[in-house]
Amino acid sequence: MTATHPTPSVRMRLSLRAAWSAAVALVLGVVACTDPTVAPKSSVTGANFFGDPSSYVEFLAKIYAGLAVGGQNGGDGSTDITGIDGGFSQYLRLYWEMEELPTDEAVIAWGDQTLPEMNTQGWTASNTFVNAMYYRVYFQVGMANEFLRQTTDAQLDAFARARAESAYHPSCSCAMGSDTLAVVDSELRVRGVDALRVVDASVMPAVVSGNLNAPTIMIAEKAADLIRGRTPLELMHVPVFEHPDYRTAQR
Ligand SMILES: Cc1cc2nc3c(=O)[nH]c(=O)nc-3n(C[C@H](O)[C@H](O)[C@H](O)COP(=O)(O)OP(=O)(O)OC[C@H]3O[C@@H](n4cnc5c(N)ncnc54)[C@H](O)[C@@H]3O)c2cc1C
Repeated sequence: MTATHPTPSVRMRLSLRAAWSAAVALVLGVVACTDPTVAPKSSVTGANFFGDPSSYVEFLAKIYAGLAVGGQNGGDGSTDITGIDGGFSQYLRLYWEMEELPTDEAVIAWGDQTLPEMNTQGWTASNTFVNAMYYRVYFQVGMANEFLRQTTDAQLDAFARARAESAYHPSCSCAMGSDTLAVVDSELRVRGVDALRVVDASVMPAVVSGNLNAPTIMIAEKAADLIRGRTPLELMHVPVFEHPDYRTAQR
């Protein structure tokens, strides 16, 4: 194998990646405390990055991805850490090399950068792979800590308060059921209160898969029979269409 990698720089620097600029900005911000030559270059902050709900999932995915991949693209593309081949810079590969190569259990005979030093116990703090491991761990821990900071109960509650909306189909706030959290029983009587029923979309125990108007009218028809003491209609099982991919596909 030919060593085609760049000469290791004296100090590896974490590189900015657009999609993960919040995480990188965080880490660079901390690095800047000890190294005045490295300064945050991004205006992205935890506050504006996590304003988008999908950011939570993407950020979590990035934390896990960093254990197994080196950057945003395959191979050597758009790496999280510079100064080392992107394919070499993911956590598990570096972890294995740190664990195994200084022992007599494994040898990598390729001459990539300073890798041979690992085989012979000749590595120093400036070894490219040791540096990469240091910055990979630094990067991963920085992201994990930021995720924990952004997902406290108080933060998530504030997010829900600011962003949650019922759109056009509010329902289920007065759910029917037999458990202790159910507000009304199966005849729509408010549990623990005499002579009071609730008859509207709020008694639905779960959000229906279609629109609310028709089922609300059906609830009202049924409630009228219950209130007037009429014998309910016979139970009928009516086949309904259910899209096989309803959990993921648009209706
Ligand atoms: C913009 C919009 C578009 C929609 N489009 C569709 C659609 O295309 N198809 C569909 O199936 N569903 C649609 N829905 C949903 C559907 O209209 C509602 O989910 C449904 O009407 C809910 O019925 P409800 O009886 O539970 O509540 P509501 O229809 O809201 O009835 C509640 C009633 O209680 C009254 N009320 C409130 N407080 C008091 C009080 N203190 N004292 C006395 N009366 C009170 C209100 O004035 C109101 O008349 C739409 C909803 C909206 C807002």
